[in-house]
Amino acid sequence: MEDRRAKGIAMHIKDRMIFLQIKDYVKSFLRPYNLIYIPKVVDKPEGKRIIVFSPHFDDDVIGCGGTLHKHVLAGDEVTIIYFTDGREGDPDNPDKNLVKTVRKEEARRATAILGIKNLEFLDEPETQLKTNKKLLKNLKDTFEKIRPELIYMPSFIENHIDHLEVNRIFFRLVKDLNIKFNVCAYEAWTPIPPNIIVDIGEVIEKKEQALKEYKSQIKYVDYFSTTLGLNKYRSAMNLKGRSFAEAFFYTTCKEYVKLLKELRLNKRIFLKDFRKHFKT
Ligand SMILES: [Zn+2]
Repeated sequence: MEDRRAKGIAMHIKDRMIFLQIKDYVKSFLRPYNLIYIPKVVDKPEGKRIIVFSPHFDDDVIGCGGTLHKHVLAGDEVTIIYFTDGREGDPDNPDKNLVKTVRKEEARRATAILGIKNLEFLDEPETQLKTNKKLLKNLKDTFEKIRPELIYMPSFIENHIDHLEVNRIFFRLVKDLNIKFNVCAYEAWTPIPPNIIVDIGEVIEKKEQALKEYKSQIKYVDYFSTTLGLNKYRSAMNLKGRSFAEAFFYTTCKEYVKLLKELRLNKRIFLKDFRKHFKT
């Protein structure tokens, strides 16, 4: 009986989360006089020193792999921070250490194809990512060393527990930072209402090659086809569907943090209860 009640509460929380997500998403499209917002096409966002937040091994390539390669070609300095260790990436394999090693190697090979050399591994437990002092200290040190002009990160409407958590960690981190930079939020698991589009047609082959390195993940979900499908779709509005594009929500750090706060996504309001009832 107790178990049934707990499941009922959890279902309610889940429904409520979806309700809020849809509400916020729809609100983002409602504009006065029914004006349609057309995202702007840019070669790539401005910034020579770049940090990429990637909750898992593959989010970086899925969400912004083509754009990152364009940065590399332009001589920009790109550093990717992987937050989790990849232990949950292969449910059929009981050897978690092997799974972690395989996934890390896939990330090394994929980023080498894109020409990215600076990788940092925070090795937090996948699906259990939470802010902690050591994690914040590591991030702060990296930010102070690189002094980035631009950050890529999964958007705050990503329907994935670790992706949302990365946004909460970011919220905590920037409170202590005295560095001015812009944020480019990418889509990996949930499409966003974008304000900029990057044409990646000329580098799509590199992105394809990089995606193919994630064999352990493509075995479960065909991220190769889904990502290319989304990139093709993103070329519809501005590029007549004749290229591939990555879509972003691009803004200042200040505005991004303000939005996070307004949406109360800096707080773990529902997830705390959700975790209590369902050990995720
Ligand atoms: Zn992910």
